Amino acid sequence: MREFVGVCRSIAVGAIAASVVVAALAFAQAPTAAMGPDAGQANNRPILIKCGRLIDGTVGDPRDSVSILVRGDRVEAIGKDVTSPDAQVVDLSSATILPGLIDCHTHLAFHPGSISLAAIRESVADQALSAAAAARATLQAGFTTVRDLGAPNYVDVALKRAIERGTAEGPRVLACGWSLSITGGHGDIGNAYSPFIELPHSNIADGVDEVRKLVRQDVKYGADWIKILATGGVLSAGDNPGAQQYTYDEIKAAVDEAAMSGRRVAAHCHATSGVKDCVRAGVASIEHGSFLDDEAIRMIKDKGVYLVPTTFVGDFIIEHGSEFGIPAENIEKAKATIPKAHESFSRAARAGVKIAFGTDSGVFPHGQNGHEFAVMTRLGMEPIAAIRSATSAAADLLGLSKEIGTIEVGKTADLIAVPRDPLTDVRALEEVRFVMKSGRVVRNDMPK
Ligand SMILES: [Zn+2]
Repeated sequence: MREFVGVCRSIAVGAIAASVVVAALAFAQAPTAAMGPDAGQANNRPILIKCGRLIDGTVGDPRDSVSILVRGDRVEAIGKDVTSPDAQVVDLSSATILPGLIDCHTHLAFHPGSISLAAIRESVADQALSAAAAARATLQAGFTTVRDLGAPNYVDVALKRAIERGTAEGPRVLACGWSLSITGGHGDIGNAYSPFIELPHSNIADGVDEVRKLVRQDVKYGADWIKILATGGVLSAGDNPGAQQYTYDEIKAAVDEAAMSGRRVAAHCHATSGVKDCVRAGVASIEHGSFLDDEAIRMIKDKGVYLVPTTFVGDFIIEHGSEFGIPAENIEKAKATIPKAHESFSRAARAGVKIAFGTDSGVFPHGQNGHEFAVMTRLGMEPIAAIRSATSAAADLLGLSKEIGTIEVGKTADLIAVPRDPLTDVRALEEVRFVMKSGRVVRNDMPK
């Protein structure tokens, strides 16, 4: 929700040069080439996973008592009789195995209570260290891939690279760099302060030319996605979630400029008119989508745009916001917005809009991402549909369907296990006990 900014006015020239080189290399490899080299088993032995129940993320039915053979970072075989003489056996025969989960809307560089003050209280080093801890908590909770939608100071890009190098532990990260905001908009930290206090404004872009320039800068410094704040928001000061902020021409400029380098746009949208202009302009995903009328739902569906509804975060702000220092003004905005947002999500899901799982983690504590499933199902989604939103559908939105999102032979071995069947109780997904990312076991404390 609130995405903004601190600024490092004295970034070392060497760091800038290094970023340019790495961004150029990243671009040469295509923007979604996010399969990092932290893959494979330490001793090169294949791993044979004995599954109680397997929900593979495809449209097929769950299967019982099958085994999965993982070699290197890949799924090599799946079946009742699969075996390998030299394999290490991981016995998960009491558990349900699913694809590694995908969260399409995180804020790893934020943490609860930091959000509105991060820009002035925290240094870039503070932000980076807390992002590394957030990444670890997110992976431990079963999320093997995230699209991080807004971080200050390119902390998300640095984190992504550290995870790919193996110097930090976390999910595969698709980064967006600065979220674009209008002056006085959802991402303008200055809203809360006197005009005579100089505050960072690195993420502010007004007008078509400035929008194009900031998109170019984000691409230059390593963004895989472009994030725009198209309407007001809940956790910002002084603005209104029901009001559009970027004009159609500005949104279209962001989409066109992003497309020139093969990137797509994720749009923070609550207000109805903002949703419609974003869909018309060609964004790939509508984030939040709180105020959807029938026409907006029809437009989203007809254009095949994904809705990323972030249903849990609203409950969190209303129930726990004051404990985490969220100002009363913002809690009041949440109370006015969230019932509408939940209703919009239910209607959109019923109408057959494509839904991808996203949480806004960072507003609530990292690692609680799995709580989203319970709210989605409470609002009418079937558990299997909610699971697909966080696996095959999310991979489709991210353009990574050939690699992740389902457990199939030849794909990257991203797997999780939970002790109970999430089809009968979706809260089982809050109790992930086994995580494999790219063929490497990063967590296994499944009770026998
Ligand atoms: Zn957000």
